[in-house]
Order: sequence, then C-alpha cells, then structure tokens
Amino acid sequence: MFPRGAGSARRPLDIMWTFCLRSLVREYGWRFVRRVALRHPVRTLQAFQQAGRIDVSGVSVEVTGGGRHALDRPLSIVGAGFCLKPTNPSCPSGRANHDCEFLERLAGADAAGVPAPCRPCAIRDIGTRALRAGAAFYVMTSARDILDDVFVPAMTRGTFTTGLFVLCRYSFQPFAIGLLASGISGRLFPLEAGDCRDYRTWLLADRGIKAEQTAADGERMGAIARLFDAAASPSGGVRVQRRGSLLCPLPSAPASTRTVEAM
Ligand code: SF4
Repeated sequence: MFPRGAGSARRPLDIMWTFCLRSLVREYGWRFVRRVALRHPVRTLQAFQQAGRIDVSGVSVEVTGGGRHALDRPLSIVGAGFCLKPTNPSCPSGRANHDCEFLERLAGADAAGVPAPCRPCAIRDIGTRALRAGAAFYVMTSARDILDDVFVPAMTRGTFTTGLFVLCRYSFQPFAIGLLASGISGRLFPLEAGDCRDYRTWLLADRGIKAEQTAADGERMGAIARLFDAAASPSGGVRVQRRGSLLCPLPSAPASTRTVEAM
C-alpha cells in the first residue's frame, strides 16, 4: 500500500505535484528545469502526465519511456539508495556517498575475506549482480547528483537507456519524471523498511541525513535476483572500473582494475 503512515489519506497524484512544486524552489528543481525541461519541454510534459498515472503499489513499477526503449533490453544502469548501506557494523565506505569499497577494491575476496559489514549488505548483493549482468552500478545519493550522473548523460549522450532502481516508494513518481524526460525506461523496486515517507524526511536524506538503514524485503530482492540471473555473464566474473560516481563493467581491462567474483 502507498503511502503508509502519516498522510496516508493523500492520493499519489497530490503527493507527486506537492513534491515537484516544493522541489522547484530548490537547487535540484531549477537545475532540472534548466537542463532537462527547457531542452525537451514536450517530452517533459508527457513525463509528468505518464508519471501521474503510475500505480506506485506492488512489487515493482515499470516506467517504459513511451516505448522509447523496451525493458527487455539489457539493463544499462542499476541504482540503489545509499541508505541501504549498513549502519551496525557500519559501511567502511561511509554513508551518503557513491562509494562501495567492496565493489571497488575488495572484490575477488572469497567469502571469508568479505568484511563483516559487507556480508549482509544489499548494495553488495545488487551491485555484484548488476555488474555481472553488464550494467553500470550507481549508489544513489542526492537528486542533484542523480540529475548530473544519470538523467543528463542519458538525455544528451544516450549513455543509459534502461535501468533498474531501488529507492523509496514515496519518490517513485518524481523519479519516474526524470527517467521519462531523459529517455530511460526503468523498473523501480521499493524499499520496505526505514524508507522516507514524506517530503521532510526525503529532503533530509537528500542532504545525506539518514540515520535509518533501509531494506528491501525478501520478495523484492528475490525478484531483483531473478532478473539479474537471467542476464548474468556465463563466466560469473566481471572486471570493474570506477568512472566518476559510477562503477562500470569492462569486457576486458588492464591489470589495475579489479574483478568481482560470483557471490
Ligand atoms: S558492500 Fe555494502 S558495506 Fe561493504 S563497502 Fe559496499 S556499501 Fe559498504
């Protein structure tokens, strides 16, 4: 069900417009207008209309970009919220950033060599599966960073066409606007515990203030795993290179890159 808790009587459409109007006076909002909406006004209007019709309940939500890119194509990017990073014991990479020490530097360690915080970490699970499946992996932080790292490159250079994203259900519709306006077809999976459920907590998390560790439940993680398993590379391993804020799989790589082994 959505939304839950406080404000549950409000309809998702009201929540989407309130979210967008409040964001307009913030940096992300005016940068989105300048870098996306003014360049593609028709597509952005269509994105608002389409996002407003999304049913945000359910195991996942598909955002198909007006048929621009079919979702059965290989995923080009996978994103997961930084709030999935563990807090006890805490992530060795820190919290509100794009870093994952395991995927960047510790990959290749056998199970006994995986640091304790990383063993149950959903970022490790999703990121490893994504990279093995040939998708770039992105630890998502602020809306502004997502605009710069994902939406604008997709719109201007066609860097990303299809994606899978794990984020709070509360921000599904605004996020879908960004995807649709930038030409990405995506599948959105919700966090089911510790997630932001109103604008105030979302705004704090957007600034990196998020004490709760979020979680996707077993049903969502199972659905994500099945999607990746169908696309995993036969060898089970992949070389990884950091490019800006993203981790990218390489078909072949120099010795300085690291290899993520099957879990
Ligand atoms: S696997 Fe998880 S806990 Fe380990 S470095 Fe990456 S994000 Fe942090």
